[in-house]
Amino acid sequence: MRISDRALAIRRVPYRDSSWIVTLLTPCHGVIAAMARGVRLGGRDGSRAALTGFHALSIEIRARAPDALGTLARAEIVEPRYRLPFLPEASAAGQLLFEAVHRLEMPWDARDGAIFHCVDGALEALESGADPLAVAAGSISRLLGLFGHGWRAGDCVGCGTRARLRFVSVKRGGAVCEACGAPYADRLPKAGEAVFAAMADRSWPPRLSGLTREEMLFFYQLGVEALNRIGPRPMSGDVSFRQLANV
Ligand SMILES: [Zn+2]
Repeated sequence: MRISDRALAIRRVPYRDSSWIVTLLTPCHGVIAAMARGVRLGGRDGSRAALTGFHALSIEIRARAPDALGTLARAEIVEPRYRLPFLPEASAAGQLLFEAVHRLEMPWDARDGAIFHCVDGALEALESGADPLAVAAGSISRLLGLFGHGWRAGDCVGCGTRARLRFVSVKRGGAVCEACGAPYADRLPKAGEAVFAAMADRSWPPRLSGLTREEMLFFYQLGVEALNRIGPRPMSGDVSFRQLANV
């Protein structure tokens, strides 16, 4: 069996002395793992450099059977991102997105391509100097939606009213109105109109220009909290990202 696709190398785990097991996000095959044999010894084909960093790759995997771990036969850079590793805040944001994709369960439908294009587009934006906090906040929210954990932002998750939306419940996944939220007012974070608009925004790239820096950080934290609820442990990239982003 032979697979050719575009890919982002979202994870590398050392295997024996010379190899990696790489996890790849692809547009047509979802997330797949493959053995990159001998790649840690350097090699002559540049696949080590290709698999390290944030480049968009063209890959080929060969496997004996559809469910067997395949071997990475080729990995070439098609969209190089040479600046990104030298931008600490931006690369922490990139790592965070890789961690998010790795923790979420890939849906078995055509949205796979959208997930690849979301992460690939976010990396492209980071490479060209976009604000890492805006990219992280927007793409985490978008990824949650694509993975089936999207927000309900237009009406209250408790009673369905569209009026007087005041709070956000990460647990319930959306907006809460003033009346429903009143008993929990000390625990539920309050949100303004701009944040609800950002939560409801399904466009890509998301339009976050209406958010203040503070609201942007709030929106980012909502996304990370939602991710934390899904996985077995908190997102490890969150701490380093916030340190580097100074938020
Ligand atoms: Zn309500």
